[in-house]
Amino acid sequence: MASSAKKQKVQDSKCIREFQTWWTEKYGMISKGDKAVCVLCSGTVVCRTSSVKRHFETNHKSVSQKSEAEQKELIASALNDRNKQSTSMIKFVGNNCHTSAASNAAANVIARHSKPFQEGEFLKEAWLACAPSLFDDFDDKDKIIQRIKETPLSRNTIKERILKLAENITDQQKIDINDASFISLCLDESTDVTKSARLAVFARYCVGNVIKEELIAIKSLLTTTKGSQLGV
Ligand SMILES: [Zn+2]
Repeated sequence: MASSAKKQKVQDSKCIREFQTWWTEKYGMISKGDKAVCVLCSGTVVCRTSSVKRHFETNHKSVSQKSEAEQKELIASALNDRNKQSTSMIKFVGNNCHTSAASNAAANVIARHSKPFQEGEFLKEAWLACAPSLFDDFDDKDKIIQRIKETPLSRNTIKERILKLAENITDQQKIDINDASFISLCLDESTDVTKSARLAVFARYCVGNVIKEELIAIKSLLTTTKGSQLGV
């Protein structure tokens, strides 16, 4: 008796964690990792026929009491809805990814050329003006134009992205400077359009075999840029 119980247990544990494809049509279960997921309620069940069956019969009692044909139809429609949902999600996330990447690239160009933040809107207008002729012989011209329209390039978005890029560059510089064995500082002054004096601090350091020279600070000075005022 003990040995047959043990044998049963071993057999049972062998059945666990193997998703059975026939559960989909009969109980509306789909495989997810080492679990089965119910398409009717999104509940998760361990991969064992008895558990899957129990889930269906207790949680979806009204469905399980219908005729076999009706059960099949209900399960098939729930499956269909789920597939639609997941593909539209992938589409949404996918599209978002492309437009975010494009928006970051545009912010990078705007920052490198020291252009005002609202140039993003100008860029979009220019792309939209060019796209119809540029992609005229493309089958998916409308899709391209739509994608451009969806790219976030407003003044605020560009500002946020440039601030993030600057933050990232500062973080990289901090890591590189901390890792460098030696650094040299170079102080320079200039006066801007408002005639106020500015002190620029550059650092020179090595990253691997490359010598870098980066602006690490620019500060307004209350007085003039004489050495004595800089504390040098
Ligand atoms: Zn369920």
